Amino acid sequence: MMRDAYDVVVIGAGPAGCTSASLIAQAGFSTLLVERDKFPRFHVGESLMPECYWPLERMGLVERMKHSKFVKKRSVQFVTNNGKESDPFYFVEHDPRECSTTWQVERADFDKLLFDRAGELGADCVDATRVQDVLLDDSETACGVRLKLADGSMREVRSRVVVDGSGQQSLLANKLGLRQEISHLKKAAIWGYWKNAIRDEGDNGGATIILHTIQKDSWFWFIPLSDGITSIGCVGDNDYLLKRDGDVEQIYAQEIDICPGLLPRMTGAQRVGKLHVAKEYSYWTKQHAGQGWVLIGDAFGFIDPIYSSGVYFAMVSGEKAADAVVEGLRTDNLSAQQLGKWCTEFKNGAGWIRKLVDAFYTKEFSFGGFMRSNPAFKGNLTDLLIGRIFYDGAGDIFNEMGPAIDKAKEQAINI
Ligand SMILES: Cc1cc2nc3c(=O)[nH]c(=O)nc-3n(C[C@H](O)[C@H](O)[C@H](O)COP(=O)(O)OP(=O)(O)OC[C@H]3O[C@@H](n4cnc5c(N)ncnc54)[C@H](O)[C@@H]3O)c2cc1C
Repeated sequence: MMRDAYDVVVIGAGPAGCTSASLIAQAGFSTLLVERDKFPRFHVGESLMPECYWPLERMGLVERMKHSKFVKKRSVQFVTNNGKESDPFYFVEHDPRECSTTWQVERADFDKLLFDRAGELGADCVDATRVQDVLLDDSETACGVRLKLADGSMREVRSRVVVDGSGQQSLLANKLGLRQEISHLKKAAIWGYWKNAIRDEGDNGGATIILHTIQKDSWFWFIPLSDGITSIGCVGDNDYLLKRDGDVEQIYAQEIDICPGLLPRMTGAQRVGKLHVAKEYSYWTKQHAGQGWVLIGDAFGFIDPIYSSGVYFAMVSGEKAADAVVEGLRTDNLSAQQLGKWCTEFKNGAGWIRKLVDAFYTKEFSFGGFMRSNPAFKGNLTDLLIGRIFYDGAGDIFNEMGPAIDKAKEQAINI
């Protein structure tokens, strides 16, 4: 059912690509969404940020999310390297609206929901089809894609715009040499799924819990999913985690053993399935849009999973890019400036989260200590943790908080 030409081709049906394709198709432009894998497909990145609510609402998916099997996430909690648990941070205490409840999602199901929604909103959606290349004309304007179809045959599809949501594969950024590694965030993750890991009762039962190991050389995520399954993952420097004696099973078990906050939650828990590994996944791009093309989601850049910001950034960048593409198609302006008009604000927002990531990895720094000496910033810090980043005046507020975080980091290091 694929046509020979579309207004827009979107590469990759993760949260970024599905959001973009949905909103562009909804605006009435012919859209092709192409996914390499066959749906449903496994993916890491299960914990959403509360502010995912707004793109989900725009796509008409909030009611379906509310009635889904996904575990409701109402809080986050941090556990120190000696096992001391912070009070849970309940999002509703910051904002009483229903957008303060979010979800822990099995990505196979969540991404399928988004993919199907893009179809309902008018996009042509194909899976098991790989974009082999983005076609650029003599003036480096994107003009379509070359596809490898499920039966192995090749096909070209023309388009006025190509939106790259290909995730960590970052197809266009690799082709054009735009990828920049973030050298100090060369992290790796090992994770698995567990039955009967111990959760809290009540509203904190769906919390994402972040737990440090004894020497703070690594940390664990504890993400409760549906059917009593919990995703438990360990993150540390790539060299620390993966370049030492022992196989992945042994290293993962050793890290659990030195995580005092996690051990009691794993009494009687049984692993389901194999372990998964991701390495050196943080990077950035030095250009985010060109004539007829734009990058979104992980294809634009990825910082670190600590604050569960990946899916949120994917959906927001997908949404902002879609608005720019729709405006560009309506005004016949498909320049880099038009398609990337949202990128500066987006980069600034991601930059503030990146500041928090750097603070987290400064072993001596503690958010508790920062809050105690800077109570005026509590609300702003919370805004960042729920993803409330893109609003009028946010820049001024966060620019004020940045130096306070830097100062607190310096003081902590010098004690
Ligand atoms: C260890 C780890 C833990 C994480 N935990 C969290 C978390 O708890 N919460 C959170 O929000 N985020 C988390 N993330 C980040 C999250 O996984 C990503 O940020 C998010 O999936 C990005 O969405 P996306 O749509 O940009 O890319 P993806 O979700 O990766 O989707 C890209 C899609 O493009 C497809 N594709 C790739 N190449 C092609 C091609 N050539 N042709 C066609 N299709 C193609 C892929 O198959 C894929 O389906 C984590 C990341 C890591 C590494």
